[in-house]
Amino acid sequence: MSLIDKAVTGNQEFAKAAHPEMNERPRPGVAVVTCMDPRLSDLPAILGLPHSELDVIRTAGPAVTDDVLGELVASNRVIGTTEIMLLNHTGCGFTTFTDEELNAKLTEVTGDASPAPMRFFSYQDPEQHTREQIEKVRSHPWIAAEVPVRGFVIDMATGLLSEVMAS
Ligand SMILES: [Zn+2]
Repeated sequence: MSLIDKAVTGNQEFAKAAHPEMNERPRPGVAVVTCMDPRLSDLPAILGLPHSELDVIRTAGPAVTDDVLGELVASNRVIGTTEIMLLNHTGCGFTTFTDEELNAKLTEVTGDASPAPMRFFSYQDPEQHTREQIEKVRSHPWIAAEVPVRGFVIDMATGLLSEVMAS
């Protein structure tokens, strides 16, 4: 059985119990941009905040792409979050290659080049990556000045966050 088939079966079990809160409009307080790495999935445990407070935006890295900026603007201006947390981590898979290397590898493996080099948003240093993210988010005119934009790196060996100050 595939994992998706298992998920469909699992959902039937889930839906047997009532979940009235799922039908309420969410009112999270903080937008969290973090990596798609599954080790970061249990944010309520990692951050000590309930699911209901977290508006989670996940990309590899995480990369703060134009799409992520749009999601942050909507998170603040439509959904009503009042803080932005950028959560990077040590040991990210996206530090293990460069975009150029992966483009070359996939071209070789498939025998086909992408129409344009694909952006994977690989990076090298999580702290530098975090500083660049803070600047990128902070400089967008639609992110209100009163919304704090704070960046962190979680050490996967200790589970501890360290805050990265914008340069
Ligand atoms: Zn990662």
